[in-house]
Amino acid sequence: MRREVSMEEISDGKLYTANDLVKADCNDCRGCSACCQKMGQSIVLDPLDIYRLTFGLRQKFEELLADKLELNVVEGIILPNLQMSGTEEKCAFLNAEGRCSVHAIRPGICRLFPLGRYYDGKSFQYFLQIHECKKENRTKVKVKKWIDTPDLKKNEKYISDWHYFLTDMQKTLATLQNDEKVKKINMLILQTFFLEPYHQEEDFYVQFYDRLEKLKTSLQLLTRRE
Ligand code: SF4
Ligand code: SF4
Repeated sequence: MRREVSMEEISDGKLYTANDLVKADCNDCRGCSACCQKMGQSIVLDPLDIYRLTFGLRQKFEELLADKLELNVVEGIILPNLQMSGTEEKCAFLNAEGRCSVHAIRPGICRLFPLGRYYDGKSFQYFLQIHECKKENRTKVKVKKWIDTPDLKKNEKYISDWHYFLTDMQKTLATLQNDEKVKKINMLILQTFFLEPYHQEEDFYVQFYDRLEKLKTSLQLLTRRE
C-alpha cells in the first residue's frame, strides 16, 4: 500500500539497502500474529505473489479469490489483496496456532514487514516502520536476510518496475474521462498479470517482462483506436 506520510512520523529517519543491518528481527514473532490480523485491504499483492501462491498451493488465481484473496480498487487500478476473514478479521492463511500456513510462499509485503519501501528516482530503498511491529527488543538483521527473497537484484528491479508501471497507469487512468476505457484497461491489467496462468518451469521475471511489453503494445492499440 502506498502512503503519503512524512518519513519522520513513521520511520527511524534512516534509509537502508539490502546489505545494511536494521533493527527488524522480531525473533520468530513468538506468540504474536498482530500484523496478520485486521489489516483491511492493505496487503496488496503483485504478480510474483500470485505466481508463488498459485504454484505453492496448486490453485488457480480464481480459486484463491473464493476465500483467500479479494479484488479491490487501489487508486484507480483493480488489484488483489489478502482477505481478512471472520469476526477477528484474520488473514485467511493464519492457522489455528497463530502461524503463517504459507510461510515459504508468503507475499512480498509479509516478507518485508516491519520494513517498508521508499521510492525515489525510479528505484527504492528500505525503511523501518517504527510504529508497526508490536514486538519490543527487536534485534539487528541484514535487510536481505530478513526479506528472504532469492535473486534479490532481479527482484528489486522487478519491484521498482512494477511500482512505477502502476503509478504511471494510475496517473493515466485519473485523466481519462471515459469509464468504458478505464474498465477495459483495468481488465487488461488483471488478465495480463493475474488471471493468465504463469508457467512454473519458466523464470517468473522473464514471463513478467514479456507480459509487460505485450501489455504496453495493447495499451497503445487501445489508445490509438479511440
Ligand atoms: S507485529 Fe511483529 S512480532 Fe507480531 S507478528 Fe507482526 S512482525 Fe511478528
Ligand atoms: S500470508 Fe502469512 S504472513 Fe502474510 S498476513 Fe497472512 S498469515 Fe500473515
